[in-house]
Amino acid sequence: MAKRQFKSESKRILDLMIGSIYTHREIFLRELISNASDAIDKLCYISLTDDKIGLTRDDFRIEIERDEEKRTLTVSDNGVGMTAEELEGNLGVIARSGSLKFKGELEQGGADADIDIIGQFGVGFYSAFMVAKKVTVVSRAYGSDSANVWESSGSDGYTVSPAERAGYGTDVIMELKDDADGEDGGENYSEFLDEHTLYSLIKKYSDYIRWPIIMEVTKSHRVEVPPGKDGKSSATWESRAEREAVNSRVPIWQRPKSEVPDEDCFKFFREQFGAERDPVSVVRVSAEGAAVSYKAMLFIPSKAPYGYFTREYEPGLRLYTSGVLIMERCDSLLPEYFRFVRGVVDSADLSLNISRETLQHDRQLKTIASNLEKKVRAELARLLEHEPEKYAGFYEAFGLQLKYGLLSDFGAHAENLKDLLLFYSRKAERPVTLAEYAKNMPEGQKYIYYACGSGIAALDKLPQAEPLRERGYDILYMTDDIDDFAARALGAFDGKELRSVTGGDLGLSGDEEKRELERTEAAHRELLDFVKESLGGKISEARLSGKLVSAPACLTAKGGVTLEMERYFSSIRAESPEPVRAERVLELNAAHRLFGTLKEAYGTDRERAAKYAELLYGQSVLTAGLQLDDAARFCEVVSELTA
Ligand code: ADP
Repeated sequence: MAKRQFKSESKRILDLMIGSIYTHREIFLRELISNASDAIDKLCYISLTDDKIGLTRDDFRIEIERDEEKRTLTVSDNGVGMTAEELEGNLGVIARSGSLKFKGELEQGGADADIDIIGQFGVGFYSAFMVAKKVTVVSRAYGSDSANVWESSGSDGYTVSPAERAGYGTDVIMELKDDADGEDGGENYSEFLDEHTLYSLIKKYSDYIRWPIIMEVTKSHRVEVPPGKDGKSSATWESRAEREAVNSRVPIWQRPKSEVPDEDCFKFFREQFGAERDPVSVVRVSAEGAAVSYKAMLFIPSKAPYGYFTREYEPGLRLYTSGVLIMERCDSLLPEYFRFVRGVVDSADLSLNISRETLQHDRQLKTIASNLEKKVRAELARLLEHEPEKYAGFYEAFGLQLKYGLLSDFGAHAENLKDLLLFYSRKAERPVTLAEYAKNMPEGQKYIYYACGSGIAALDKLPQAEPLRERGYDILYMTDDIDDFAARALGAFDGKELRSVTGGDLGLSGDEEKRELERTEAAHRELLDFVKESLGGKISEARLSGKLVSAPACLTAKGGVTLEMERYFSSIRAESPEPVRAERVLELNAAHRLFGTLKEAYGTDRERAAKYAELLYGQSVLTAGLQLDDAARFCEVVSELTA
């Protein structure tokens, strides 16, 4: 039969894997056992509604068979099996989902690429080639009368042909590579035929697999020797091979917290969820309630997985009921703003026939979801208080997600999230919570001030923040695109309003100062109108500023659209037919020398005065971190006025 070729990308990855990544090659067993367990999960789920399968829960098993003479190791399951098309589709293509990233990492990392990414992108099965020179897969799919065999000796291709198999399920038969002499004692593959090695690998990686993993183990038995001439009885020990389940089968989340150290949970997370790094935390829940009892093991990752902030990312927790996996990613167990949490929920109280649609309305599930939300929130708060460095790492990865959470559902979650946010503090020179900001507010400061922009350095020089700096008030510098929206969604913290430094009134002046400013403004009405006129629609108002100290002018906005929103929308929709524009206000500092010069020119040379208006406006646009519409024109004006 003609050999079929692996898809070209698969071939490259396969070569890399077979050739260079062998230090962790023992994980192949864990990968195959995990596939077998998944296949059994699926058939077990089907068997709940199809009694023709003729298997009960106690019949499902994974068998490990070793043959020292033939040098073969076989992993068998009586799970759902694969059709010929599935053998071809599942085993002929590697890395369907994350192929590009995977390839990229392998190329960058070369031979040292982290083995954990293998599990991450659905190439688990291929790890068999790290130890085998030939892999044969015999499989009979659920509902099918005949079986098929898939054979491959590595990257040169594979064949699929008809075969025989007694029941549904799959056998993966690995013909192990030859042992090779070499440095470091060479490469020993025979160890994977050794009973003790296999036993300890199963204990190490697959102990919590729910289905029995059965293999032949040597047992010592005490044998009584009948009394001899002296009348004394004695005993000797005899070894016998017996087949038995070697894994303890209690899923890790079902075992008491005291028995399972965090490190074991972290290992479970890395292996089961294809994570590259340990999570920042594991949250364990064991709830016995009137409405519903359940166990959960939740992980707060330390790094956003590939594609996390894209539409393709599928959030959700693994949902089991009575030990049967009913959903790989159940997204109604967590609020959207905690969609980074991964983990397992297991409850005997849920109906086995629960479907995606009914899940949304399930009362018990809602109870679980609401508890889990609280647990995760409490854990994040704990980290923030007691392990701030860990929290900072988490926040780096998922802070943006929390801010999106603030904006979702019209700000309904602000109460749940406000204490978890961090923003960079001008005074502390590090991210702080709103509570920390509020606690350090000096007497007399009424508002929480924040300034949005693209970088800390520019924000530190914002002219309109000068009176705040002079008073020793702190300012939160917000540099994420959505920060301004987030701050607005929050509105206030602890009864203190959040005020944007670029938004207009800083609320610093008393009534008398305000009246004074109004009087001066009235006296300069004509000049201010002239400035507005001469800028030809670029601003909607020119006024005198109460908050500038040493800078001559600044730009603020009135109405619903802020300068930050304008900047944000212009960054995401450069070609938008109707650009979102803030109503710009040019604020002038009447005490500044430049204002005097403008006033003087207004009296003697209107054309020159108009250029001063352009100069002041251009400066303000730049310090606000915005683009000039016509930079060449601005330079011309600067040259003319300074020549
Ligand atoms: P992953 O398990 O991460 O998806 P694998 O390369 O290990 O990636 O397997 C690819 C697919 O092949 C699986 O998703 C599954 O559909 C199928 N498969 C692998 N092993 C088995 C098995 N023992 N029984 C049934 N299907 C299997």
